Amino acid sequence: MLDHEQTGTVEFERAATIAPQPLIDPFGRAITYLRVSVTDRCDFRCVYCMSEDMTFLPKADILSLEELDRLCSAFIAKGVRKLRLTGGEPLVRRGIMTLVAALARHLGSGALDELTLTTNGSQLRKYAADLATHGVRRINVSLDTLDAAKFRAVTRWGDLEQVLDGIKAAQNAGLAIKINAVALKGVNEDEFETLTRWAHGEGMDLTFIEVMPLGDVGAGRLDQYLPLSLVRARLAERFTLNEIDYRTGGPARYVRVAETGGRLGFITPLTHNFCESCNRVRVTCTGTLFMCLGQEDAADLRSVLRASEGNDLLYGAIDEAITRKPKGHDFVIDRRHKRPAVARQLCHAVKRRGRTAWAKAQRFVPITPAHRNAPLPTLPVVLSVQTSD
Ligand code: SAM
Repeated sequence: MLDHEQTGTVEFERAATIAPQPLIDPFGRAITYLRVSVTDRCDFRCVYCMSEDMTFLPKADILSLEELDRLCSAFIAKGVRKLRLTGGEPLVRRGIMTLVAALARHLGSGALDELTLTTNGSQLRKYAADLATHGVRRINVSLDTLDAAKFRAVTRWGDLEQVLDGIKAAQNAGLAIKINAVALKGVNEDEFETLTRWAHGEGMDLTFIEVMPLGDVGAGRLDQYLPLSLVRARLAERFTLNEIDYRTGGPARYVRVAETGGRLGFITPLTHNFCESCNRVRVTCTGTLFMCLGQEDAADLRSVLRASEGNDLLYGAIDEAITRKPKGHDFVIDRRHKRPAVARQLCHAVKRRGRTAWAKAQRFVPITPAHRNAPLPTLPVVLSVQTSD
């Protein structure tokens, strides 16, 4: 199998005997936005996201760059117009720029409107200029605090200066930036105003994300939970927040802050935000397609990709999966029982507990009343979050 990481080459479209059809789900929604996780690895260990001690997947389980390109291109052929690369940390994937450069051809052809990514910013100094060269116009950078010590504590391994330097490089490269900040009780709740003034002062949008108390990441995450209604109420004491219609195809609701002139978004990942107009699906780095953020139903596209050189099987599998896209979320935030409400892996990395634990963690755990009442799972999960527009 060709591997861009080794060869640096790019292979383009595969043959198909059937013409790719647009993706329309059973509720008449056109699927035009794909989020793709390109790696399970990350150079940070944010306390609400990963445990410090992670086991990452064997390389063979992860889609190669060529497979990622083929998969994304198949979705684009079927009408996807916006593509977001995520992770893990997308910019730590070896050879990532080969993939970005390859995908850029779809911008050039007009088949794709937007190629973007969500990043922790640590590698932006290195890659910002290349991203801009390859047609990336805006990116999301995750940053929860402007305090270096807190930043280190939240990310466990991160260096705030490195990220700020990366943001500067991205701005110099002409990339528009949206900052994503997870609202964390007792951690950054004293910084909401500062973050807002800073982001807007730098010409960046800012979105607050409600922390999702899912999975076992080794810390008492429920202690970190802070409802965004509270965040918004506190900000409203400092600023005039004017509702605006601005939408970027994602789940955020935006206001304009009169005092700064900037846009402020709020994402409550588990609520029924805009299900009726949902145009999104997501694929993990192992090629598992999730049709809904809040449902565990999934389709294995990796085996389909690997089963055939041509794209017929792949198109068929995507079509079949889209017929199963549900009408909306089925989330329950189970704070009363203090347990994960959705056990899903996006990154597919798990806290280190040995091979058996890893193997068991490959199962998708549906949310049922029985699960709600079951004891806490012993296996950790890396949650899936829709935190980007
Ligand atoms: N590494 C990249 C980054 O940091 O942006 C992309 C992957 S990261 C999982 C995507 C986003 O999910 C980040 O903004 C992160 O803060 C957010 N996130 C992770 N765990 C979360 C949780 N438990 N609740 C809410 N947001 C979370």
